[in-house]
Amino acid sequence: SANITALKALVRTVPDFPKPGILFYDITTLLKDRTGFAMLIDELAAHYLERKIDLVLGIEARGFIFGPALAYRLNAGFVPVRKPRKLPAPVARVTYDLEYGSDTLEIHRDAIQPGQRVLLVDDLLATGGTMEATIKLVEELGGRIAGLAFAVELDFLRGRERFPNHDVFSLLHYD
Ligand code: 5GP
Repeated sequence: SANITALKALVRTVPDFPKPGILFYDITTLLKDRTGFAMLIDELAAHYLERKIDLVLGIEARGFIFGPALAYRLNAGFVPVRKPRKLPAPVARVTYDLEYGSDTLEIHRDAIQPGQRVLLVDDLLATGGTMEATIKLVEELGGRIAGLAFAVELDFLRGRERFPNHDVFSLLHYD
């Protein structure tokens, strides 16, 4: 649609960031546009307005930008999934493989009550490794995953194929 085309034009691509050969999709240029930011949140929220979402869960760091705005719009609570040693109370932890090395994410053990309907949010879906790890955390706590939401999806990396049993919704697609 015209809206989607306008939003895509607000995402900046930066070659060779964070390292040579990587084309980085920079969403800060969309965030600073008042019309674009509102449109993005409204279009994402529209996909879930008919569903009962108890909690929106955002992944550090850019999931902390879209997650709370979406939670507010959906009348849901917000739960942060954080890098190690940031959360003060008892946590569940998951470690997952990266291209080089590994990464760890943590969630407060009492952040989700068993059976609560949780929407998982990040800015961008690439290989899906980050989201796959986050799903493990939510399942360990007994949450019901209502969907996986992204502002941007890099279709050519086929990350969504990791999630055949979940509703994967992204607004802006790049191939
Ligand atoms: P994945 O785990 O799906 O391979 O990578 C997605 C994660 O890396 C997300 O948390 C996302 O914020 C970050 N990421 C990877 N590539 C990009 C990019 O080009 N732009 C932005 N904004 N984030 C990226």
